Amino acid sequence: MQELLFYFETVPSSVRSLFLISGLAIFLSLEALSPLFQMNYNKLKHAKINLTLTLITLIINLIGASLIIKVVNYSSQNRSGLLNLIDLPIWLYLLFGLLLLDFIGAWLIHWLEHKVKWMWRVHVIHHTDPNVDVTSGLRHHPGENLLRLTFTVLAILVTGASLGLVMFYQTISAFFAALTHANISVPKWLDKPLSFIFVTPDFHKIHHHYILPHTDSNYGNIFSIWDYIFSTTSKLEIIKLKYGIDTYMKNEEHSKIKNLLLIPFQEYRTPVGGKFEE
Ligand SMILES: [Zn+2]
Repeated sequence: MQELLFYFETVPSSVRSLFLISGLAIFLSLEALSPLFQMNYNKLKHAKINLTLTLITLIINLIGASLIIKVVNYSSQNRSGLLNLIDLPIWLYLLFGLLLLDFIGAWLIHWLEHKVKWMWRVHVIHHTDPNVDVTSGLRHHPGENLLRLTFTVLAILVTGASLGLVMFYQTISAFFAALTHANISVPKWLDKPLSFIFVTPDFHKIHHHYILPHTDSNYGNIFSIWDYIFSTTSKLEIIKLKYGIDTYMKNEEHSKIKNLLLIPFQEYRTPVGGKFEE
């Protein structure tokens, strides 16, 4: 396991890009072979919007990487952070590390994005997608990228995670973003039991239902256990799912990159069921 962490610490960025591209290709093939929904949309046009936002995300993350390295070096030099309090066996270090990074760096910020008005205004872009597929995974506003970067830094400071662990976490996280958004049909006997520990495709899809209370539930990224601990899960029959967000259902509002980038600066719209009403 030590070798695993060492591998992720030293893996060249070309290999990381290869992971990303082959992951995308695998999920695109699975979507074609076994789709969850037969969605009537222009997949290429849809992908163009989401991949443009993904590209912006990757550029911000590239800049963020140098900040992450600085923070990792700071905590390793000072031996600060929860994981450095005691010498853990490597498998426990990995397990606690992944759980805590996932909690602070993903669950907590995602939950806040649904509870704090100005954060919701940047996060809503992710929810405007009326056709959730593998490309929806990184459909984020640049403002949200900065928020998530801030919480990744916070997670590293709290845990004192090593560079290998952070890179390992980020690789699994990217895999889950693709897996849980992909328009793939997973047998219930497999999805259901796994969903008590991990975020599965069906578990996450409920978060993309177009109205409350489902929008404000199932916040998990890798581990669903955080949603069970904080009682933020919700159930919905997959067949009843309707993607998007009730406040931005018009085609010209969720299918034009310029409008998506401007949404946080437009007049606030209250979802049905109320959220941040004056
Ligand atoms: Zn969300």
